[in-house]
Amino acid sequence: MENAATENPSSTPARLRRLNIGPRLTACFLIIVVLMGAVDFIAVWQFKRIEVSAHRFYQVDQKSLAVMRAHVDLMEFREALITLANAQDERGFAVEAASQRDHVVQDVRRAEETLKSFPYQDSNVALTLEAVGRSLPLQADVLVQLANAGDWQGVRLRLANQVRTLVGLTSQLVHDVDQEVTHERTQALASTERARDQLALVLSVTAAFTLLMAIVFGWYATRSITGPLATLDKGAKALGSGDFQHQIEVQGEDELARLGTAFNYAARQVRELYDELKSNEARFRALIEYSSDLILILDSEAIVRYVSPSSLRVAGRNQEELLGKCLFDFLASEDISKMRDTLGGTHTESRPAIEVGFRRPDGSMAVIEVLANNLLDEPAVAGVVVNARDITERKSAEEQLNKLHQLEADLAYMNRVSVMGELAASLAHEIKQPIAAAATNAKTGLRWLQREPSDMGEAGEALSRIVKDVSRAADIIDRTRSLYRRGIPQREMVNLNELIREMTALLRDAANRHSISMRADLDESLPTIAADRVQMQQVLMNLMLNGIEAMKDTSGELTVRSGKSDDGQILLSVSDLGVGLPAEKIDQVFDAFFTTKTQGTGMGLSISRRIIESHGGRLWACANTGRGATFQFTIPTEVSAFSTSAGGDVHSPT
Ligand code: ADP
Repeated sequence: MENAATENPSSTPARLRRLNIGPRLTACFLIIVVLMGAVDFIAVWQFKRIEVSAHRFYQVDQKSLAVMRAHVDLMEFREALITLANAQDERGFAVEAASQRDHVVQDVRRAEETLKSFPYQDSNVALTLEAVGRSLPLQADVLVQLANAGDWQGVRLRLANQVRTLVGLTSQLVHDVDQEVTHERTQALASTERARDQLALVLSVTAAFTLLMAIVFGWYATRSITGPLATLDKGAKALGSGDFQHQIEVQGEDELARLGTAFNYAARQVRELYDELKSNEARFRALIEYSSDLILILDSEAIVRYVSPSSLRVAGRNQEELLGKCLFDFLASEDISKMRDTLGGTHTESRPAIEVGFRRPDGSMAVIEVLANNLLDEPAVAGVVVNARDITERKSAEEQLNKLHQLEADLAYMNRVSVMGELAASLAHEIKQPIAAAATNAKTGLRWLQREPSDMGEAGEALSRIVKDVSRAADIIDRTRSLYRRGIPQREMVNLNELIREMTALLRDAANRHSISMRADLDESLPTIAADRVQMQQVLMNLMLNGIEAMKDTSGELTVRSGKSDDGQILLSVSDLGVGLPAEKIDQVFDAFFTTKTQGTGMGLSISRRIIESHGGRLWACANTGRGATFQFTIPTEVSAFSTSAGGDVHSPT
């Protein structure tokens, strides 16, 4: 195939290449057979030429024979009549003369016929024979008459002259024909020899040519099969040795060319598959090698059969240390049964990751998170695939974070407690009122009972009022106690307007002490929201107490408003006419521990902001155009985010 690349596509071999092998071989054999037929035809043609010469040779011989026979007959005729004339046998002479005459005339006629059959006529010979044929009967008749008349002398004279002349003529004829025959024979011989030489030459040339052509076509037919076969063989060997780039140069359109095309296609497919396999393998290898996790494959006895290169990084042990060892040998003894359970599962059931202690070479324990997939039944893997992740740092970070949360919760709680301290007087006043009312009602009731007769109706009413007063006091205590309670944040449906009213009632006494009036401007159409009641109370309390604090030297009005923001969220604001936000430090008022007060903690606003943000809202402050400051926050009506800290959200302080 490769050699054929240099052939002219329109040449015969190239055209033959388009044929299938069967027709191609048939064409080659046909060409050889046709050539052999041509050689046979030439040989026959040459034989024909020799045959023509031989025939001419035969004809000349026939001519010579016929003339010779006529001459011999004439001589015999003359000799026989001379003998009879000498014997003077009249009767015998007449019979013999007639018989011999007919014989001679017959032979002369035959000679004439023979001459006529020649393609060319020798008029001289024909005329001589005709003359002999015509005069012999006349001479014979004259001789018989002379013999009958007894003129034997005349007979002898005539035989000696006239008949002898005729013999002379035929003798001359024999001589001429002989000369001619000799000439013809020489020519025929020469022609035959020439034809024989030509035949030998033509036969040897054509035989040699046929042989050559047979060799050429035989060689070509063989080559056109063995060449592509060798190329295919070479390609198969290259493929076998992993050279998937190898492609066969395909020429022609025969079965081998189609085989070559199929081979190239198959090789390309194999190469593409191989490339894909290689890139997949490289990808998976990279995934495993550069994974921060440790990948292990264990057999059914938990013996490590494969370790990813990340083992040193994750487990502090190199691959050699782990390979062939039982995984349990490296685990904390209390975690072995847990690990055994995880390894024993099947890959179809999803098992949660477990955390186990993994012993490092220095004796310290790393905490690793393990996820196992039992693929022992998968013939390609035949092992348990273990994904291990070092979570030691994460665990300690979580612990730190938990501690921080606890700290934050404690701080928030402390904030509430400290705020409640400030409310103690206000609370005492608040509770005193229902208790004093209850005492008054109790006295009234007692009086109605001591009357004669007792007025049970009035006494019952007094008792009912006592129950109401005591319930009111219990409510106040409950609300207050909830602020002191350490507890898990709970989401419940909260009416913020109601909360504002409660807080206003709770803080009224504190406000009165500083001649501060309180006003609630509430939008009653506000929906209830899912929120943590205590945290919301804490925010309102912080903002309202800060407002009261800001106005304690100047008095003024504290306004609490509820309504809706432009984007449909609930908007609450607390405005005062106090000292205003600290100059050039407005941004810092929400920072933890920022305070401008001698007894301040600096945690109120920081905690409040994180509570609001944990409810998905936003808290900010701005200075009023006149006096004082306004703090406001938004809360979405659908609260989605929700923190878990008891005193606010658990993020680190801003
Ligand atoms: P604390 O009240 O213990 O100082 P906060 O976090 O509640 O802690 O407040 C931080 C600071 O913000 C206060 O010290 C004060 O300087 C400022 N601030 C808070 N509320 C107001 C207000 N209504 N008017 C003026 N300044 C305020």
